[in-house]
Amino acid sequence: MKVPLLDLHTQYKLIREEAQAAITEVMASSAFAGGPFVEVFEKNFADFCQCRHSVGVGSGTDALWIALRGLGVGPGDEVITVPNSFIATAEAISQCGAIPVFTDIDERTYTMNPDLLEAAITSRTKAIIPVHLYGQMADMDPIMDIAERHAIPVIEDAAQAHGAEYKGRRAGSLGRAGCFSFYPGKNLGAWGEAGAVVTNDDKLTEQMRVFRDHGQQRKYHHSVIGWNSRMDGIQGAVLDVKLRHLPDWNEARRKNAEIYRSLLADLQVGALPHEAGYARHVYHIYPLRLKNRDQVLSRLAEKGISCGIHYPVPIHLQQAYSGMGWDKGSFPVAEMHAGEQLSLPMFPELTEQQINYVAAEIKEAVK
Ligand SMILES: *Cc1c(COP(=O)(O)O)cnc(C)c1O
Repeated sequence: MKVPLLDLHTQYKLIREEAQAAITEVMASSAFAGGPFVEVFEKNFADFCQCRHSVGVGSGTDALWIALRGLGVGPGDEVITVPNSFIATAEAISQCGAIPVFTDIDERTYTMNPDLLEAAITSRTKAIIPVHLYGQMADMDPIMDIAERHAIPVIEDAAQAHGAEYKGRRAGSLGRAGCFSFYPGKNLGAWGEAGAVVTNDDKLTEQMRVFRDHGQQRKYHHSVIGWNSRMDGIQGAVLDVKLRHLPDWNEARRKNAEIYRSLLADLQVGALPHEAGYARHVYHIYPLRLKNRDQVLSRLAEKGISCGIHYPVPIHLQQAYSGMGWDKGSFPVAEMHAGEQLSLPMFPELTEQQINYVAAEIKEAVK
């Protein structure tokens, strides 16, 4: 049996008619760059995130960069985040001219360890970016407490956490801003590239709207030096169609995770994902930890099962960030995690048969 890590085609077939009708409307009205279809999606996505505003942009990386710029982060500033994220989290900081400062993660949730946060704060810290990795939110209460005590804004990297919750509150709604990616493989994925920032801050919203559109409030009158990061109209229309399905898709992911859990509960080695008491996990990724991860990965590949590693090299050990003073051993939990993490096939349309097959083959492989 073949089991892909991710299957976008099955989902495409389920929503083909709806999405194509929406795309046809965009084409008929020629509203390709920004415009009314993006505005409708922005309104609906803000509601979904329990926020007043959302600003659609070109990608999740842009969302992070534009939120940081909107908060005034610039050269010489420091921004605290975690080393076990997709590179974009650190890139956005660096492209502001600021310096990423890493803090290690919690061993069970793989998100920012609040106990280590305060020690990383300096007089130059201008923002804190917890990453809601794999679809589970970071422990936001202690993070927000520390940040508020130091008057430092928190930006949530919610690129993997559309619809995830912390004590009943939606990802993106707890910090000053929440940044989302709609890269095709994300829980809410465009049919191209897109991203958004959600916030309750009126002033920040206005700044980000102006910035993403060349710094213009009025056409050809530029109040600040901005950038072009408007959301594509076709992406806005497709995302609005897909947003209606997202609650069901997240539920299906949770159900699949539950089946994995019941089948793998007696796995003697490694660790299954831990859903924290505060969390509603939306399983963008179903992460295992295994000491012999690489052997298991290749054995599963032989059996037709595609797995992934998110991520094999933590950001502080990437070549791009060499020469910044970090070394092996700087962030031991993140490094241990990078050496053992394995992502199992996970998407809403995964069948019970496929999950049974994956679980059985994992049990064989770890023997
Ligand atoms: C996907 C992702 C991003 C970047 O989003 P793009 O839309 O690919 O630019 C940022 N942070 C995390 C944690 C991600 O998973």
